[in-house]
Amino acid sequence: MPSLDLRSLTIMAGLIGIVMGLVLLGLRRNYPASIRGMRLWGAAPLVCAGSTLFYGLDGVLPASLVALIGNALLLLGVTLFLLGSEQLHGLPPSWRRWAMVIVATLLLLTLFMLVYPDYRIRVLIFSGTLAAIVVEHARLLGRHGKGFAHRFTAMALWGQAAVLVCRAASTLWLDQADTQRFAQSTVQTVYIATFSFSVLLISIGVLLMAGERVRAEFEYLATHDSLTGAHTRRAVLAACADELARWSRYGSPFSLLILDIDHFKRINDAHGHLAGDQVLAHFVQIIQAHLRSADRLGRYGGEEFMVLLPETDIEAATHVAERMRASLDATPDSAGRPHCTVSIGLTTVQPGDGKVDTLIARADAALYEAKAQGRNRVQAG
Ligand code: GH3
Ligand code: MG
Ligand code: MG
Repeated sequence: MPSLDLRSLTIMAGLIGIVMGLVLLGLRRNYPASIRGMRLWGAAPLVCAGSTLFYGLDGVLPASLVALIGNALLLLGVTLFLLGSEQLHGLPPSWRRWAMVIVATLLLLTLFMLVYPDYRIRVLIFSGTLAAIVVEHARLLGRHGKGFAHRFTAMALWGQAAVLVCRAASTLWLDQADTQRFAQSTVQTVYIATFSFSVLLISIGVLLMAGERVRAEFEYLATHDSLTGAHTRRAVLAACADELARWSRYGSPFSLLILDIDHFKRINDAHGHLAGDQVLAHFVQIIQAHLRSADRLGRYGGEEFMVLLPETDIEAATHVAERMRASLDATPDSAGRPHCTVSIGLTTVQPGDGKVDTLIARADAALYEAKAQGRNRVQAG
């Protein structure tokens, strides 16, 4: 085991923590306001660094004061990481619970420092509480994210928890309480080095999580219509092209529906554009209720929509379309939202369909027929 200079190591870790915190706080301004939690994440490594630098005052200030304030800052730092992740995921904040845990931990530490001095029990209490916060954070990320950034951060947290548990366990083998913080014991060296490194990894992890969230938001904006939440025309056409390729390779059938709200212009004229917008948004909710997870609903333009139904033949597609039409027709007027009906043209893929445009043209012709026959009906093409 190479002998590391612990004081320098601790100060290095503190400086890296400060840089990471400043980077997170600086980036916060460039990210959309919807990416929450970055302020807490930025404060977390700063507070952890504060604690590391405070431990560096050992010998300058009374040992018990350094230990208590340093421990309090470290507990606060790891909790801030957890609270930031809660904010990012829109979860109810748990700061009240952790504030009580931290206060209770500090009281116990004081008890075992001043009244019944016992270094081993203090390490057990402190490491145990830190590990509990860290594990809670790792489990939260496991539940709420699947991307690389979440996995990376969760792994760094599990690693940090393992370091804390090992540290607590190692004191049980000590013959004598080792109260010299910067004593060159192997356990101390490994503990301080790995803990500081894990704070760095977690800071990188949360930075990646924020980046992943920004990318997901932009991807959502690019593929979804802002008024109705339906997919965009481009997203549905791309899904249609994929289905067409699957059909030519494996023969899996699929159907395409084009829906057009009847006399929508009249709704706008009679009730105003705002009411028209509400009708569009509500229309999408009603249609969506009839779709399976693999189906795609997209806004084709104005008051026209497309539905892609994978693994669906013409009969099944006609049934689905009829259910959509009937449920919209059965939806009564409500405050500010007038009643409306829909005409639906549909088609199923056929031999010779080489392009998505061919299917769209056929569904469109069927829709035209449904309109010509009096609207509020389903027509297969
Ligand atoms: P038809 O039964 O033949 O489909 O008649 P229609 O009135 O629905 O058809 P038309 O294509 O003449 O009119 C569509 C109207 O939809 C015209 C346009 O102002 C309106 N519209 C398109 N997009 C929006 C939107 O985002 N919000 C609102 N409120 N109206 C829209
Ligand atoms: Mg139209
Ligand atoms: Mg219309």
